[in-house]
Amino acid sequence: TRRSRITKAETTCNFCAVGCRFDLYGRDGEVLGVRPADPEATPANDFSTCVKGKFGYDFANSDDRLEHPLIKEDGEFREASWDEALDRIHAELSGIQEEHGQHSVAVTSSSKCTNEENFLNQKFARQVLGTPNVDNCARLCHSSTVTALKQVLGYGAMSNRINEDIGETDCYLITGSNTTESHPVLATRIKQNVRDGADLFVFDPRKVGIAEHADQYSRPNPGTDIAWINGLIRYIVEHDLHAEEFIEERTKHFDELVEKVDPFTPEKVEELTGVPEEELVNAAQTIGEADTCIFGWAMGMTQHAHGTRNLLALTNLALVTGNLGKPRAGVSPFRGQNNVQGGGGDMGPAPHNLPGYQDPTDEEVARKFEAEWGERPPEEVGLRLPEQFEEMKEGNIRGMFIMGENPVLSEPDIRDAEESIGELDFLAVQDIFLTETAEFADVVLPAASGAEKLGTQTNTERRIQMVRPAIEPPGEAKRDLDILMELAERWGYDWRSKYDGPADVMDEIARLVPIYGGVSYDRLEEMPDGIQWPCEDEDDPGTPYLYEDEFNFEDGKARFVPADYAGPVELPDEEFPLMLSTGRVLYHWHTGTMTRRVEALMEQVPESFVTIHPEMAEELGVVDGEYVKVTSRRGDITVKANVEDQSDPGVVFIPMHFVHGAVNELTQHELDPDSYIPEFKVTSVKVEPV
Ligand code: SF4
Repeated sequence: TRRSRITKAETTCNFCAVGCRFDLYGRDGEVLGVRPADPEATPANDFSTCVKGKFGYDFANSDDRLEHPLIKEDGEFREASWDEALDRIHAELSGIQEEHGQHSVAVTSSSKCTNEENFLNQKFARQVLGTPNVDNCARLCHSSTVTALKQVLGYGAMSNRINEDIGETDCYLITGSNTTESHPVLATRIKQNVRDGADLFVFDPRKVGIAEHADQYSRPNPGTDIAWINGLIRYIVEHDLHAEEFIEERTKHFDELVEKVDPFTPEKVEELTGVPEEELVNAAQTIGEADTCIFGWAMGMTQHAHGTRNLLALTNLALVTGNLGKPRAGVSPFRGQNNVQGGGGDMGPAPHNLPGYQDPTDEEVARKFEAEWGERPPEEVGLRLPEQFEEMKEGNIRGMFIMGENPVLSEPDIRDAEESIGELDFLAVQDIFLTETAEFADVVLPAASGAEKLGTQTNTERRIQMVRPAIEPPGEAKRDLDILMELAERWGYDWRSKYDGPADVMDEIARLVPIYGGVSYDRLEEMPDGIQWPCEDEDDPGTPYLYEDEFNFEDGKARFVPADYAGPVELPDEEFPLMLSTGRVLYHWHTGTMTRRVEALMEQVPESFVTIHPEMAEELGVVDGEYVKVTSRRGDITVKANVEDQSDPGVVFIPMHFVHGAVNELTQHELDPDSYIPEFKVTSVKVEPV
């Protein structure tokens, strides 16, 4: 038979939130390969895509792809028609709501999906099911970032650009980010700028790759970040290195901050964190004197039971030094998933805010949504993802619809999470693979991957970019947007005649969400570099960096919110003498559902491992490359030992991507009271040879 022609799609990477753009080639339902787009493209790099972007797309060709709806009967899945599967979801969720109340069901959205899909999914929860119980995995990665940045600056997002600001700044403070492995293209930009003379300070319990390029690497004890950041602020203010005029004109509550950081002398910081006095002083002096500085972080800062306070402290530091509202400076959360900024945040699949971070109790906002939807969205604050798991055990959440997420691997304390999900009366999962979570489902819907759909996603610098299909979905799999429309139809909502496709959904987003007010597919076709929000109307070119004239509050002023010191929740003791940290590796992505199905990536890192310092390995009788048992108060796993000296002898590390040796068997369900992010980064464990 004749083969069809090769298709080229100008699209955006489906892995991390750097959002590199490239051409994706496909033919006859198979992805053929990736070629970097125009080297001048923003924010794609001048060099290449990283290894995941380049070789990671094989997941779309995997034989494991779901091609038919599945229904579980007597513990086994059987193929079903779309009608049967969707009717079943409607009957089960409606039945649960009739018997146990409207809020007895919950919906999970996905940062892997497009903005339009996430918008419709939260609309499905709020309008169709009538519940605010909708959340997504941003709860587990950067919810503390968003909470802190909104309190201090007004927007919960990166304030600056990747190329022109991160790539050109005079100085960096990077903390809790394994940038080289998690955001490789960003790391390349930083390394190039450091080679050209920028100063780089890295604070991290692990000597991660980016630290090799640093002017100074400092190793604080895990979970002690507020102390060294408050120490930097104290030194900078004491030595008149702060931005006095900027603070006077553009901020509030500076005196409260000065009072709060007063105890954090260099000696005190050394005592609390282990960072030597001279290192703190050197960093404070250089950052205080720099004309511009970028403050970059990832989950090493966010995933703590005091994650919000970590980020309040760091944002205070950026404000004190006047590094906001100007080019080549800013606060830079390095977000993880491709569309976590847009799909996981801006589109409002969150229990406490509507799309665009709007307050559901605000009368004007509620009326606007009512005019568009014909109904008011629920006003109450719903349950956050970890709370939903708690309430499953209590019998208060009985039905769940999950789009493209794998909480059974990503939630802390997996065994507990499995127990919770096992308590549900009904679970429906929509995904591209039969994930660890989908295994628990009663109905599984086969979805399209990012290589097979049209839509937009918003990268870590607030840039809204197009995703375009290179191939058709396999078998009977459908695009998430189409599935949601067909599902809503079961409840009597005629979305299919309302939305001809994702462009129409974006038009509705633009009408309802002021920061997306000027975004449309026509404009995105004309502006291949994308549009950075806020973009209020169609004449607005977007906003490259935030806060040039004012902060996002009525009075235009930023607020210092001082951060009280808090250390780790679980400290090592005689039984569990080591501290465990979790994180990512270059060749894998999140719970690994996609990258574990790519041969080229599995060849590099085929299984989980624990890194352990040579001195500790010797003390414990652990041999490099042999299996060891790692035990915490929650459970134990067996993984290979990787003897290396990236961390102190008392600290070990396990990546988050694997099912066998799943690190979240060990982590704890201890939540940050402000953002509800769990404490993933500090767990007490013991390691034994097996
Ligand atoms: Fe994709 Fe991120 Fe790699 Fe760019 S750096 S190719 S966005 S995974």
